[in-house]
Amino acid sequence: MFENNWNQKLAEEFISRNSEKGFNEDIAYRVYSSQLIGKNPDLVMHGGGNTSCKTSQRDIFDVNIDVLCVKGSGWDLSTIEAPGLPAVRLAPLLELRRLDNLSDEEMVSAQRCNLLEQSAPNPSVETLLHAFLPHKFIDHTHSTPFLVLANLPDTKKIVEDLFGDTLAIVPYVMPGFELAKLAAETFEKNPDVEGLILEKHGHFTWGTSAKISYERVIEHTNKVEDWIEERRKKTHFQSCLPEKSLRECLFDNLQAALRRVCEEDSPSFIFNIVDTSEIIGQINEHIKNDVTDKGVATPDHVIRLKPKPLVLKRVIFEKGVGQIEKTIQKFVEDYKNYFVSWSCKSKDKKIMLSPMPKHAWVEDIGLIGIGRSSNEAKLITDLALQNIRVLSDGQQSGGFFPVQDKDLFDMEYWSLEQAKLGKENLKPLGGKVVIITGAAGGIGSAIVDAFEGAGAEVVAVDFNEKNLEIASRKFRNNTSTKCIDLTDKKQITTLLEEVQKEYGVLDILVSNAGTAPQGAMLEMDIQALKESFEINFFAHWELACSVGRIFIKQENKGQMLFNISKQAVNPGLNFGAYGLPKATLMFLVKQLALELGEYGIRVNGINADKIRSGIVNDEFISARAISRSIPEEDYMSSNLLKAEVEARHVAKAFLDLALNVRTTGHVMTVDGGNIEASLR
Ligand code: ZN
Repeated sequence: MFENNWNQKLAEEFISRNSEKGFNEDIAYRVYSSQLIGKNPDLVMHGGGNTSCKTSQRDIFDVNIDVLCVKGSGWDLSTIEAPGLPAVRLAPLLELRRLDNLSDEEMVSAQRCNLLEQSAPNPSVETLLHAFLPHKFIDHTHSTPFLVLANLPDTKKIVEDLFGDTLAIVPYVMPGFELAKLAAETFEKNPDVEGLILEKHGHFTWGTSAKISYERVIEHTNKVEDWIEERRKKTHFQSCLPEKSLRECLFDNLQAALRRVCEEDSPSFIFNIVDTSEIIGQINEHIKNDVTDKGVATPDHVIRLKPKPLVLKRVIFEKGVGQIEKTIQKFVEDYKNYFVSWSCKSKDKKIMLSPMPKHAWVEDIGLIGIGRSSNEAKLITDLALQNIRVLSDGQQSGGFFPVQDKDLFDMEYWSLEQAKLGKENLKPLGGKVVIITGAAGGIGSAIVDAFEGAGAEVVAVDFNEKNLEIASRKFRNNTSTKCIDLTDKKQITTLLEEVQKEYGVLDILVSNAGTAPQGAMLEMDIQALKESFEINFFAHWELACSVGRIFIKQENKGQMLFNISKQAVNPGLNFGAYGLPKATLMFLVKQLALELGEYGIRVNGINADKIRSGIVNDEFISARAISRSIPEEDYMSSNLLKAEVEARHVAKAFLDLALNVRTTGHVMTVDGGNIEASLR
């Protein structure tokens, strides 16, 4: 059930807050109820849906003019504020209705030309529909129940049964000028209706106040939801969960198979996995009933999901990567055929989008969103889940008959969408998942910062929970943090399992964690030396071996980067217990580079010196400076360049190595120049 969350007190707070910023009461109400609608993903999802109000504003001559404030593109209803509802002069919009035709580009241009504020966002592509209807407040949703109703074979009859003559039906037309005219004509023939249902698309309703309109959204949607609920099967869907090893194998094999089929150079496939028993049950049921390629709930969904999911039956994926590869190949061929057959009928030239699947339905495993970033993968699964719900409910209420190929193609290759192509600014490590250990330390957090800046999806790992929490305040929101003891093999296994569950892939390991015990060799206790080897060598080795096996399975040509330190080549007094495992680690870099090169896996290291960190802390610096009778600054800049080397310089070197696609088995020095510690 959809709750009516209207709260007059809260609405009034919106009014006073907005009036301070110079926005009138109409707009404040519009912002308030838009947010109410936006906060329920079953009403609108991810920037979908739009709202408007007709009000007046003063122009530069202080003349009051009628405007339409309508959702601007790039804004989400759940968080919208007044600037997200750009004001467009209403009179010129209404004049457009006299035209017989108006291309999408002309429509966008006419809307922009009539903005009161030149820097405002583009008004929604459904602006004219809002303009041509006469009502003061209008709400448009793509709610799950209305999508079920809008895709039934007998929508008309059920709408009549449920709503009598209070809701009119608009036949399917793509959003834009033509739909705006058709919706207005439909309303004018039925001027007493409270709203419209747009076939294969969604719901419109309105009111003289924001409250009336909002209450109609809730009331209409509940009416449809009740009707669906009566038809919904009460039995639980059946599923038989495969054992853990088969699950993990599937994710690695799917990664490898996607890469074998994809024609891009270094593609990214980040997974978002949904494996609740409910969704597994629904997917199994649809696979069993062979209703996997019925299409998507609204043409809008096709932009994110493509016309159909990749379907992996258990008999297929149990056979391993080769069989999955063949299934993906077939998917890609079908997609290319769909593109060729419709694009040749199109007036203007179309550029084919990536033919790779955007989501997979996997029998007994669940739903996998396949994105170029974790955000995209999550957005895909949200829409795909809604699509599955609409299909499930539709199947039980008479059938699911969404728009088919031609209309899907028109929407997927809509000129307004195609124009955005090539404008995306991809960062060099966009879509690459990287684990960074020792992430709470000075160097570690600088590495996190550098990799975040390059667009990577970062998993920041540290032993110290408190330090990690403090460091994470500077991390980006989508950087995930894990508190792990890397000397414990079990915890390494858990870490890698969690990364697989969260992202479905791992591309880069930055093995940075370490500690620096001190003491002369002759006085060193063997236990202390062994402990140093545990964290400064074996932990790196253990993690690298586990990660290497994942890289090989995923066929993603991953890479490993190690923090080596100058101790590996240039011993410092009392740092033997640190230098010994670090020298071994440098050898490991070369050994792994040798053994993993054939898989395209690169292994490199950084030799850095005298960087302020947990090891080279204030106390350490002060002691060293005193022992040499020089000021601290001179001690820190005692190198050929006479300049202190900072954590950010080291982080930059890690990033440079990560981007150097033809470098492996290399150790890069970042120490401001130190001939004794220079390599080869
Ligand atoms: Zn819409």
